[in-house]
Amino acid sequence: MKDSKLTLPKGIFVLSLDVELCWGAIDKPAQLEKNKKYYEQARDCIDKILVLLEKYNIPATWAIVGHLFLQRCNPAKGGKHSDIPRSTYPWYSKDWFEQSPCTDDKEAPLWYGQDIVRKVINCSVHQEIASHSFAHILYGDENTKRNTVRADLTNCVCEAGKFDIELKSFVFPRNTAGYVDELNNFGFTAYRGIEPVWYRSFPKGLRKVCHMIDQLLSLCPPVSLPEYDQGLYNIPGSMLYLPMNGFRKLIPVEFRINKAKKGIRKAIENKRIFHLWFHPFNIATNQKKLLYGLEEIFMEVQSSRDNGELETKNMKGTVELLNCI
Ligand SMILES: [Zn+2]
Ligand SMILES: [Zn+2]
Repeated sequence: MKDSKLTLPKGIFVLSLDVELCWGAIDKPAQLEKNKKYYEQARDCIDKILVLLEKYNIPATWAIVGHLFLQRCNPAKGGKHSDIPRSTYPWYSKDWFEQSPCTDDKEAPLWYGQDIVRKVINCSVHQEIASHSFAHILYGDENTKRNTVRADLTNCVCEAGKFDIELKSFVFPRNTAGYVDELNNFGFTAYRGIEPVWYRSFPKGLRKVCHMIDQLLSLCPPVSLPEYDQGLYNIPGSMLYLPMNGFRKLIPVEFRINKAKKGIRKAIENKRIFHLWFHPFNIATNQKKLLYGLEEIFMEVQSSRDNGELETKNMKGTVELLNCI
C-alpha cells in the first residue's frame, strides 16, 4: 500500500483543460443555448492556447469528452448509444442523449471533435490526452449506476485506442467524483479532485458568497500533495481560471493573475502542486483579456522554472514523478 501523503522534490505547476463543447450541457438545454456562442469559438481558443503552451513549453492535460473522438454516429435499433445503460435523474426527465444530434462532424461540429484531438496530439510540446468521460455522465451523482459508468468508460478507452492513446488521467464531469475503483479497472492512474478551498464545506448559498469574496480579494488558492486513492492519485485542482461572463466579468483579469501567482509562489515554498484548470471555451468570454492573463501566468511559471524552483508536469507526468520517488 502506498503512502497516502507524499513529498515532492519541488513545487509543480499542473494545467488541465476540460474539453467538452456541447457535451458539458447535455443535461441542461437552457445553458447549452446560452453558451453556444462560446462553444462556437472553442476551436479558435484551443488553437491560441496551444500556441501559448508551445511558446512557454508547458505540457498540459487535455481531458476530452470521449464522444468528441468520433467523426459520426448513428442511432442503432435501441436508440442513441444504446450500448450505454441509462441512469435516470430526478432533475432531468429526458433521455441523457436527447440533445445530441447523432449525425456527423459536418452537420454538428459542436458534438464531434476529431480535429481537436489531432491538434492536441500534433502540438510540438507533448500534451497528455486524458478523459472527461464519454458522454459527460456525472460519476459522483448518487443516481448514476455502475453499469452506466462501465459502459461509458468502455467507450472512452475504445475510441482513444483508435488514436493509439492510452488514457491515464481522468477529470470528473462537474468535478463530481465517483466509481474511482472502476477508473482503476480501466487503467487510469490519476484524477483531478475538487479544489480544497476554505469554504468547501459551507452550505451552497454561503459557498457562492465566499467564492465571490475569495475572488475579489485574490486570496491565495490551495496547493496540494497528491493522495493515493483506490489505485489512483488524486491531484486536486487549485484554481479555476475564471471566465468573464455574468458577474465574473466584474472581476478584473489582474485579480486572476495575482491569485495564480500567489498559488505558484505557495507551491514553490511548500513543495506542493498548483493545479490550474479551465474549459477552453471559457476563454471565449473575453479572448483578449483572458489570453493576456494566461500568458502572464505562463511567464511566471517559466521564470520560476528557469530559476530551478518549479517544474511543469501534466497529470500523467506527475504520476510518473511520484512513482520514481
Ligand atoms: Zn453520438
Ligand atoms: Zn465538463
